[in-house]
Amino acid sequence: MIARHRRLAFWATTLQATSLAQASSTTQPRQVPALDERLATAQADAIRARGLNSRGHVTVTKVSRSEMATLVNGPAADDDERADSLEISDEDARNFLLSLRTLTPREGRPPAEPGATETLAAQASGLYVPSKKTLFVVDEGSGAADGSVLLHEFVHALQDEHFDLGPKLREDARGLDALNARHAFVEGDATLAVLLDANLMDPVDESFLKAFTKGLVTANRKNAGEGVSHAVADSVVSPYVYGTLFVWSLYTHGGWPAVNTAWSRPPATTEQLLHPAKYRTREAPIALRGKPLGPEGFTLRSRQTMGELDVRTWLAAFVADDDADRLASAWGNGVTELYERPANGASGQAAFALRVRVRWDHGHTARATETRDRLIHAFTERFGAPITRGGTACFERPNVGPIAFAATRHELLALAGPSPLSLQSATSASATCENLFTWAKRVKAAP
Ligand SMILES: [Zn+2]
Repeated sequence: MIARHRRLAFWATTLQATSLAQASSTTQPRQVPALDERLATAQADAIRARGLNSRGHVTVTKVSRSEMATLVNGPAADDDERADSLEISDEDARNFLLSLRTLTPREGRPPAEPGATETLAAQASGLYVPSKKTLFVVDEGSGAADGSVLLHEFVHALQDEHFDLGPKLREDARGLDALNARHAFVEGDATLAVLLDANLMDPVDESFLKAFTKGLVTANRKNAGEGVSHAVADSVVSPYVYGTLFVWSLYTHGGWPAVNTAWSRPPATTEQLLHPAKYRTREAPIALRGKPLGPEGFTLRSRQTMGELDVRTWLAAFVADDDADRLASAWGNGVTELYERPANGASGQAAFALRVRVRWDHGHTARATETRDRLIHAFTERFGAPITRGGTACFERPNVGPIAFAATRHELLALAGPSPLSLQSATSASATCENLFTWAKRVKAAP
């Protein structure tokens, strides 16, 4: 669950609000050269910083700010473009937002959040579209793409030329967590090249990198505003943050050749992305036992891996970042199952229900109970004490419906719903915890 904007806004202006931009702006001349000149410089810098030659050429198209917003958020012009530049389907994006809204202990402002990520994405001043072999840049006033943005985009063009970017960024049978891992790898590669070009230091110092990535998160949360939960805001910058940390870890051990080698086998999960040692051993998820099991009257609408980064982002919405890191680490596997019940005469509006399972690695299963307790604490602060039955703690919420938490032997279990299916409406969910207790009992009894 990451980067919900519908297109690849490869480089958001939030990045410019960071220490990198501040550091490099002091070394740049006051007068900004014309775009053509900046493009030529950026292309040469990209080739040098990334250590890849260019055999082909890339088309550069100048667009206005509003045209860029349409490119980033608007409907795809044709199927070919859709296949190559859509990161995830509309359906998956919607399911993600429904799930996130349900899983966080805040009422939120439901209509604001889907738009929020689009707003952030629309601030992009450069965009590389693999299917068109074209780099789109904004050439307009203060929103014009600066040198670091252009360099970053030219690195994507180099990646495409050498490693065929399109298929790497397409959702396939490996699922969203695998796509998130590849996307972050791609962004980390281009972002590290920008850091090296800024000539701050080579190799880039770890403490600088930590401060840089932390700055990205902070600046982006601020930029997103109060109406957007941290979980949603962070999902926009996560590929840059964790991708850069990952690619840096390869680079410090073997330079760009080590990164080039990794392109033939990028991280398969966000667990591998977050822990380079697990990438080296290709640690695989632990198989989850049991079949999808929804509440009575609901049918399965989607099932996705809940990766370590998803778990981390979720928890970071209400515990300190360090705690979120620790609780999510030793991730073994996870899944979200979204169930749907159509509108009908008896029950009224359409509804959905959500089941989340997180399994930790052997030897770390106490994290399941600890995470459950932290969740219960956070929801208690917001909604008052839970109703507890048979080890399941349930909270009744006025707008998004009830949610319940339990820990089984190795797993954390979260059940929610019925909740209103519409992202736009916050119509009251009258359901109580009773249905969730029944569902929890069936889930726990299932083989
Ligand atoms: Zn990028």
